Amino acid sequence: MENLDIKSLYLEELTEKLKEMGQPAFRAKQIFEWLHEKLVENYDEMTNLSKELREKLKKTYPLVTLKVVDALRSRSDETVKYLFQLEDNRVIESVRMKYHHGNSVCISSQVGCRMGCKFCASTIGGKERDLLPSEMLDQIYRIQALSGERVSNVVVMGTGEPLDNYDNLIRFIKLLSDPKGLNISTRNITVSTCGLPEGIRKLAKEGLPITLALSLHAPNNEIRKQLMPIANQYDLQEVLDAFKDYYDLTGRRLTFEYSLVEGVNDEEEHAKELANLIKGLNCHVNLIPVNPIKERNFKKSENKKIQNFKNILEKYRINVTIRREMGADINAACGQLRKSYIDKYSN
Ligand code: SAH
Repeated sequence: MENLDIKSLYLEELTEKLKEMGQPAFRAKQIFEWLHEKLVENYDEMTNLSKELREKLKKTYPLVTLKVVDALRSRSDETVKYLFQLEDNRVIESVRMKYHHGNSVCISSQVGCRMGCKFCASTIGGKERDLLPSEMLDQIYRIQALSGERVSNVVVMGTGEPLDNYDNLIRFIKLLSDPKGLNISTRNITVSTCGLPEGIRKLAKEGLPITLALSLHAPNNEIRKQLMPIANQYDLQEVLDAFKDYYDLTGRRLTFEYSLVEGVNDEEEHAKELANLIKGLNCHVNLIPVNPIKERNFKKSENKKIQNFKNILEKYRINVTIRREMGADINAACGQLRKSYIDKYSN
């Protein structure tokens, strides 16, 4: 993390920095609240600071603030997809979804991704760089400020592999749940991973009761390898063992994501194999009809097949939901909007 990135600093660190500038501790608290609670975009909005201090801060700590390039509103539901520009002109995407329990924002954790999942648009150009904690936070801050509505839930399920940007992720979660900031309960934060065992075990020991979701997408190693190159590196059982350890240490119910791809992982036998693989775990399965991307020819399973897959899992007494397809008309699947933007402007 860049040392001068003020929005990525914990209050204690900020207090230390301000002390070096000859400022009292309460000043750091004021600035922290402007940044993380009042969500200002620049120092001039920090009206209880002297002009002199504001000018000094501008020079020493240029503020990381994302610029909205595009906001697409779905016609079928109230999903809004945002395209943000970073300081280095790269673009990332975030999605706001409205549920009866509140507003949920899905954020990106990296620019691009190096995990290579075959059906995912985010991974096509590889990983460009990690996002800073401030850049993860600001996706939520800007969406809350722009919409004027409180964000109550955050899912790290956008572009990128969060556990491949571990330290920044942890700092992001701690800042997001800080009572002096947006104060989003860790219980309302979900991190989705393609399954990096060391990262999962490390996360379990952080004492942050977030929900962990595992992108499983297959009932066995062979099928998983067809869809997810990371499966060549880590055996499914090894990933599941780490995931179980996460439950043992945190007591948080586990979530499995399973994208249904026609003819690949959507047969009855796959549902039965999946049920046997995860039986006995306190878990929940989220079935996602795969969102076809134009670069690959994967097809979505038929509704009947999806329903049948669900029924089989339920027979085995597994908690299962079919994810509502929100914002399908606005390129809402992982990485699709960013990809279409890059394609348009790079030609
Ligand atoms: N890297 C993390 C988080 C980002 S992807 C992970 O792998 O979990 C978030 C979820 O969306 C993952 O389950 C991913 O496999 C899924 N996903 C990505 N592209 C998709 C698509 N086109 N259709 C359906 N699910 C997709």
